[in-house]
Amino acid sequence: MPIASDTLNLNAVLVAVSAASRVAGRAAAERGSLADLLKDDRSPVTVADLAVQVAITAGMRAAGVPHADRLVGEEGSDSLDAGGSKMLEQIIRLAGEALVDADLPSAAPTREAEVRELLDAGGLDPAAEGRDVFWSLDPIDGTKGFLRGQQFALALGLVEGDSPVVGFLGCPHLPLEVAEDYGTADSTGSIYAGVVGEGARAGGTDATAMASLTPIAVSPTPPDGRVRVCLSYEKAHGDQDRTSAALEATGVSTTPIRIDSQCKYAMVASGRADLYLRLAREGYREKSWDHAAGCAVVRAAGGVVESATGEPLRIAGRWVDAPGGIVVRTPSVEVPAH
Ligand code: AMP
Ligand code: MG
Repeated sequence: MPIASDTLNLNAVLVAVSAASRVAGRAAAERGSLADLLKDDRSPVTVADLAVQVAITAGMRAAGVPHADRLVGEEGSDSLDAGGSKMLEQIIRLAGEALVDADLPSAAPTREAEVRELLDAGGLDPAAEGRDVFWSLDPIDGTKGFLRGQQFALALGLVEGDSPVVGFLGCPHLPLEVAEDYGTADSTGSIYAGVVGEGARAGGTDATAMASLTPIAVSPTPPDGRVRVCLSYEKAHGDQDRTSAALEATGVSTTPIRIDSQCKYAMVASGRADLYLRLAREGYREKSWDHAAGCAVVRAAGGVVESATGEPLRIAGRWVDAPGGIVVRTPSVEVPAH
């Protein structure tokens, strides 16, 4: 049975996402003084990644948001072991700031054991634990962008079965309006929220109520017929040869907008881009927290999120099922088989 969005307490989720986005934006400004380390797969993780996961989990639980006891989160407490006491202190400080900002000061963890439990709650394996409905959280998507002072996103999606149905994207460095250059940090940032079948909305990172956000939608057609495309900033995150071939087949002549993170989904959902191509390199398997939230926001805004073979993108627990890669588009732009 489809989830009734009015049972999800989405205003409380928005408050937690807004507060954590503001703290993540401040953390990005002081990133030089934050502890960071490389995970086993060589991907970077910072204090901000861990603090935001802790704050969102604790905030949703304290506000009584359903399904927040366990979730699919990118981070786990294993990163704490490598980070030492400086990292733990910074996580407690930043998560506490976010929860005070969200008016949930009593939810702020003060002890290591509480921080560990909150991080380990992100280790949900939906199939193994028999969960058909779950939140999927990437606390800082685009950590490489965060570390460069460029774009990153806090991405929180609710998945029902294999479909993202609700999505929140907190984008502390992305302006709400069209910009000449998305490579620099906007001072205010933006937030996107979508409920599939009910629409998508956007506002500033100070938003506290869904109704205060402004409705958004994908572009009806590319302006002047010129398709605006978003690609990963990190060229290693896609197959460049296949991407070039697909862009040529689609007739794209504009310069791609290269942005880190699920900010690319926000660009399509808000009509500032018509297409986001993510054609995976051989052997890479996409993770659900990198797509669940963005997919829900784009679908709620009227867009299409599918595999390179034209099947709807599906979530498979902690993974994404999208053969050949992911195509995100306004319905009027079709990408020929490539
Ligand atoms: P983006 O900035 O859109 O490229 O997305 C950032 C995300 O890409 C990170 O959160 C990683 O999980 C993911 N990622 C890491 N390595 C790869 C890879 N080789 N191919 C595709 N995505 C990757
Ligand atoms: Mg990510």
